[in-house]
Amino acid sequence: MFTPQHIQQFNSIETPFYYYNTALLQNTISAIKAAAPKNYTIHYALKANAHPTLLNIFKHAGFGADCVSGNEVKRAIECNFAPSHIVFAGVGKSDNEINYALDNNIFCFNVESIHELQIINQLAALKNKTANIALRINPNVDAYTHKYITTGLEENKFGINPYEFDTVLSELKKLNNLHLIGLHFHIGSQIQDLTPFKNLCLRVNDINKWFIQKGYLLPHINLGGGLGINYSQPDTEAIVDFESYFNVFKQFLELQPQQHVHFELGRCIVGQCGSLISRVLYIKNGINTNFAILDAGMTELIRPALYQAFHKIENISANCASPVSHLPSSIIHLKYDVVGPICESSDCFGKAVSLPETKRGHLIAIRSAGAYGEVMSSRYNLRNEVKSVF
Ligand SMILES: *Cc1c(COP(=O)(O)O)cnc(C)c1O
Repeated sequence: MFTPQHIQQFNSIETPFYYYNTALLQNTISAIKAAAPKNYTIHYALKANAHPTLLNIFKHAGFGADCVSGNEVKRAIECNFAPSHIVFAGVGKSDNEINYALDNNIFCFNVESIHELQIINQLAALKNKTANIALRINPNVDAYTHKYITTGLEENKFGINPYEFDTVLSELKKLNNLHLIGLHFHIGSQIQDLTPFKNLCLRVNDINKWFIQKGYLLPHINLGGGLGINYSQPDTEAIVDFESYFNVFKQFLELQPQQHVHFELGRCIVGQCGSLISRVLYIKNGINTNFAILDAGMTELIRPALYQAFHKIENISANCASPVSHLPSSIIHLKYDVVGPICESSDCFGKAVSLPETKRGHLIAIRSAGAYGEVMSSRYNLRNEVKSVF
């Protein structure tokens, strides 16, 4: 929710830029801490947003870091995350990335294939080190989310499949520079219905029992992330219902008392705290469609173009200027296709968006853009690097 003070602040800054509401972020962190059982470890997934200012907040909150590239591991270390709180996943870790993580003694590699086990072992042996590893397992659980952000199905490239477990265990006996400490799962992103998480728990219980029967009681069970946010209601549902989320695991996960539970949350922590703020450059009236052309485009926020993602779009200049802003239904609204300046037809933030009459110079907020927004921005069309404001 934006106030006239925000408008005043924004008016003095060149658009476009990301605005992050750190007070909301702190409240979200408090809600997680209140809802998560004490013996659960929360890692923040850097790929959602790796801004150092935000990472410092997560570090102070006591979260670990979940990284999916060598540079994310580096960023986490630069932001003073203890190496013992850093986990490193990803299907295609390069030798340089693995060596960097080995040199920094990170807590654990989440390993995604048998071939990768062999390579990490080889690189660790050259350094006379033993690498902690967890097996990233593909549990074949459908997350019922957009197909581009589903990761836990057999057809997806991620993780080791259950039919490979026997081979993994016989292989591990030969790999003396690896220490198997856990199992890792991550089934996808933007999961709002909790049923897939229940299904995940049931699969984890079976898989965990299988490993225990084979003589492997593994101390760390990592359930990944994926909890979704409400993109339609960024104000009324600014903080996710973390209690219901953690309750699913409390209720359905059956682990041994020695086993420790980890999560890797990204979107549900940072998503609602960020908005992309831009200005209307032009209004173009068509026969069936009015276009509001913004100074922000898919180069700043690619989610609508990439996944047909919905983001709530608000004309915050008109909302705040109106004396009846508390009665939005009494303002005349028109329909606009809200588009960016990039030379691609997919550069569209929303079609037939209902907005108060919109004019050149008005500030437009594209809400719920804190996760997978700034980190996915690009320099296509030689655009300027996007700025961020707190
Ligand atoms: C992306 C990712 C996450 C975070 O997912 P969110 O949907 O943002 O919570 C966690 N773990 C792994 C391995 C990931 O790739």
